[in-house]
Amino acid sequence: MSAVTSILTPIRLDYTYTAGRATQRFLLGMAEGRILGQRCPQCTKVYVPPRGACPQCGVPTTDEVEVSGKGTVTTFCIVRIPSDVLSVPPPFTCAHVLLDGADLPFFALIQECEFDAVRMGMRVEAVWAPPAELAPTFESIRYFRPLDEPDAAYETYKEHL
Ligand SMILES: [Zn+2]
Repeated sequence: MSAVTSILTPIRLDYTYTAGRATQRFLLGMAEGRILGQRCPQCTKVYVPPRGACPQCGVPTTDEVEVSGKGTVTTFCIVRIPSDVLSVPPPFTCAHVLLDGADLPFFALIQECEFDAVRMGMRVEAVWAPPAELAPTFESIRYFRPLDEPDAAYETYKEHL
């Protein structure tokens, strides 16, 4: 008889996430149609959404900064399977967008263009929910759409991939 060294057991965990002070400020900004980040007092990087501390310097990020709804696609992927949380039918494109004034890419859905037209360096802007539907949630930004601007040079975002 051999020893049992492991077993396979299906498991499910449900989490209730507490926003904390920094993320709460960010979410309240979402309800006002504003994108709020925080700047590190040492390295001056702006984190959006803020986490309350700079992971590189280990100090609190107390300076609140409002950043632009415009930004640059740094990386992206084309999703070809249905999503449980996004209502758009596949295929669709998700991207990391480096918002102007921020130092951390922001996860975004790209719409109002062909899914395979999205590219690194593409300039995009946030499309907000109607004012009556703004709420303290990421969904206040419905998606990002292309801007009629030349693509950003690789050198301007290569440190943020
Ligand atoms: Zn820092």
